Amino acid sequence: MIIHTYGHTRSYEMEALLKLFRPAEKFAFSTDAALPEGEYLSAAAEPAGDGLRLICGVSMHGETRRGESQIPADLPGNVFDREISALLYPMLCELTGMRPAWGMLTGIRPVTLLRKFAARRGSLAAAEDEFRQIWHVTEERTQLASDILRVQQPIFAATPEKSIGIYVSVPFCPTRCRYCSFVSNSTAKTRSMIPQYLDRLEQETAMLRDLIAEKRLPVDTVYIGGGTPTVLTADELRRLFLMLRTFLPEKLREFTVEAGRPDTITREKLAVMQEFGVSRISVNPQSLQDAVLEAAGRPHTAQDAVDKFLLAKEMGFTNINMDFIAGLPCDTAAGFRESIDWAAALDPESITVHCLSLKKAADFYQELPMPDAETVSEMVDYAMKTLRGLGYRPYYLYRQKNMAANLENIGYAKPGAESPYNILMMDDSQTILGLGAGASTKVLGGIRGIERLTECKYPYDYLARFDDLMTDKFSKLRTLIG
Ligand code: SF4
Repeated sequence: MIIHTYGHTRSYEMEALLKLFRPAEKFAFSTDAALPEGEYLSAAAEPAGDGLRLICGVSMHGETRRGESQIPADLPGNVFDREISALLYPMLCELTGMRPAWGMLTGIRPVTLLRKFAARRGSLAAAEDEFRQIWHVTEERTQLASDILRVQQPIFAATPEKSIGIYVSVPFCPTRCRYCSFVSNSTAKTRSMIPQYLDRLEQETAMLRDLIAEKRLPVDTVYIGGGTPTVLTADELRRLFLMLRTFLPEKLREFTVEAGRPDTITREKLAVMQEFGVSRISVNPQSLQDAVLEAAGRPHTAQDAVDKFLLAKEMGFTNINMDFIAGLPCDTAAGFRESIDWAAALDPESITVHCLSLKKAADFYQELPMPDAETVSEMVDYAMKTLRGLGYRPYYLYRQKNMAANLENIGYAKPGAESPYNILMMDDSQTILGLGAGASTKVLGGIRGIERLTECKYPYDYLARFDDLMTDKFSKLRTLIG
């Protein structure tokens, strides 16, 4: 299909809209004056009176729809996009017979958007109306976003002003899962890099400690993620915690370690985490179906994941999350139901349900049976119904581009077990200072409301360019943080 633009440059935004209907497709682009041959999505803007005439059209499945509107010439980009979407979205719905759950919203943070609408319009009810009527969000998703916002309010209210979250990246994994969309490196190739990585992390931690002291920044939460942080040995974990202890306050609102892959969790490592006050861990089975785990390239069984969960529980961890993915190859609606039922029977404090990213899934298409969009929707609906029925509340949500069934990732938690780090990070409501390769840093403030620092993605890059990277990063941080 061809994305045709004329008289403007909003092809990227049009592509995002079209992907709601054709998530796995690659598109061609045209900026010719004439409409393309074959299937297309078109928006042309031409001067008319003292404004612009916007002419939009869709040609699909041998049928064509067209529509136009008169708009002012000086609309901001986002409003111009909305005018294009307002014309194209109904045509796409009609020609595909689809009705995307999030309507014509293409952003990854619908809950944040709802919060901003509520602030602008003066009430949550008015914001909900805008979701339904202008953005065509379904009633169910509007209510979901609204419910999540209500759960999040006390967390926002309890967040100290100027406080920060710290993210520490351990970008290594024992092996690479086939669907992985993160920068992580299998330790078969990179194990020898870890001691040097920790050396550099120690240097960076010392710089961060100085910055925190200088700017008097209250540390609210810490999240150690990856990769798989528990790929570190117990001694290496101890070393990491000792570094962090040099500047962390006695009491944190939350201290999370992503224990991720069950095949890396040991009693000894869990004991070290307890010794250093880790308050929340995530044990991530992704599925509790052995055939699905095998197809995903995860070298552990469902029982391994359950055993490690029970070990952590027995050792006294009181806030454990479990991650699942809907849409993995070889999974079925019945298999996913079993996974969720089994996980729920273990009674973790939170369960996060992701949808597989279709970009990564493309590798699977070749050889493995993939659940279709309808099945993924069924999986996600089952998780929501079951978990809500058991008293878990959805508390944070985000979408990714190219997501299976165009849905979303949702974190469910028992009341009081919601992760403030997840909420504040996803909502861009707190400064997050990242440490290590692949860790992202974002600072609230500045003309854009938030400034993001691009970090190097790969550990070997981090090691090779460490001095330059740190000089640049900390001088920017000193300027950005008031
Ligand atoms: S454990 Fe997570 S980060 Fe590591 S390879 Fe698997 S999906 Fe990627």
